[in-house]
Amino acid sequence: MGTLSVIATPIGNLEDITLRALRMFRECSVVYAEDTRVVSKLLTHYDIQKPLQRLDAATETKKTDEIIARLEMGEHVVLVSDAGTPGISDPGARLIGKVRERLSGTVIEAIPGPSALTAALSIAGICTTEFTFLGFLPHKKGRQTVLKKIAVSEIPIVLYESPHRILKLLKEMETFRSSRITIARELTKIHEEVISGSIEEVQEYFLKHSDHVRGEFVVIVVP
Ligand code: SAM
Repeated sequence: MGTLSVIATPIGNLEDITLRALRMFRECSVVYAEDTRVVSKLLTHYDIQKPLQRLDAATETKKTDEIIARLEMGEHVVLVSDAGTPGISDPGARLIGKVRERLSGTVIEAIPGPSALTAALSIAGICTTEFTFLGFLPHKKGRQTVLKKIAVSEIPIVLYESPHRILKLLKEMETFRSSRITIARELTKIHEEVISGSIEEVQEYFLKHSDHVRGEFVVIVVP
């Protein structure tokens, strides 16, 4: 049986890659990536050349048989997403579930590293003994229900949000008067910043600095 290495990759800064991850990239026979151009940039930076295959949310099920056949032949397959840890609001879980079900002898190993979730929590300065991670909120159906749950949560809630919807989200949270919020933007990149305050204060900040309404955001709502 082969090995499936699930590798966390940088969320911005290309130096955020572990020595073990680089060794796995060098040793593997093929890399399955959400976007082959993104992983290609990383591998080129470290002077590694490997056959690249695409595996994104749309192709995950279709590529599963192909990956299982490779593992049966004893290949060492690497799985990466665009950034951060595969399977965390990213493809990977369905494939891994199937490999576990169909090839019980296969080694599935985590090569841990960056994730926007843990990076944001690590610098938020809040108690993280308990928290709920919701990933991306639904855009339409079910959104109001989730927002109501966030409003009454007694433990911190962590969300991923896109720049197109961050102001909308802050507006929707206007009624959460007692909550504080921390937004970690562009982690590990040149324009990294962390903004904390009441929802009103953070909303005011982004309305005033509209040029900061871009990039990638982790939102932490603290009751
Ligand atoms: N699997 C990834 C991880 O482990 O962090 C998350 C993938 S999810 C598709 C992408 C979302 O993660 C972005 O929309 C943003 O909310 C968050 N994110 C990714 N990189 C980030 C960064 N450098 N700074 C802040 N948030 C980031």
